[in-house]
Amino acid sequence: MTVMCGPLDGVPMEVLFRGLDASGRQRMLRAATRVDAARPTGQVPQWQWFPDHIKRPDIHIDGAIPEILLSEISLYDEGGDWLEATIDVEWTPAGRLNVCAAMGMACWCPEDHGTHYAPSLNVPAGGMTSLCEAFEVAAHHLVGWLRGSPNPAHWRARANLPQRPSFVPPAVQERSG
Ligand SMILES: [Zn+2]
Repeated sequence: MTVMCGPLDGVPMEVLFRGLDASGRQRMLRAATRVDAARPTGQVPQWQWFPDHIKRPDIHIDGAIPEILLSEISLYDEGGDWLEATIDVEWTPAGRLNVCAAMGMACWCPEDHGTHYAPSLNVPAGGMTSLCEAFEVAAHHLVGWLRGSPNPAHWRARANLPQRPSFVPPAVQERSG
């Protein structure tokens, strides 16, 4: 599978979404630009796109969701805990386009789920006409979340998920003992 990566002005919207007209592409680009602007200061905006998924793949391998366009924004990554914001355009198993925006964070449940996505917003796109609308809605929510806390604990609390067990540095234990 081919994965392309680069800044927004390198994303070939007209190739990825052939049914989109010029104004639709402009709307997609404007919404993506707002996402780029909401990234943490100093972070280089990167987008990924998947030329093999322009046409919906026939087979979903391992239940993986075929994504067409994706951006992952890392907000926190320290000591095994992490938080990221994601937005993508993907295919549903029914062969429809869907735009998904989500906050992803490390799982600290007794059973390891790997990643929790909460909140997670799916905006179905019936066709190219509604694709740019769906992308605008998802981008709008993502920008709002990006303005929120960069602390994964905040988002786990909001979703009622178990928190990371508190870690006491050895030096502190020695002093208190
Ligand atoms: Zn979990």
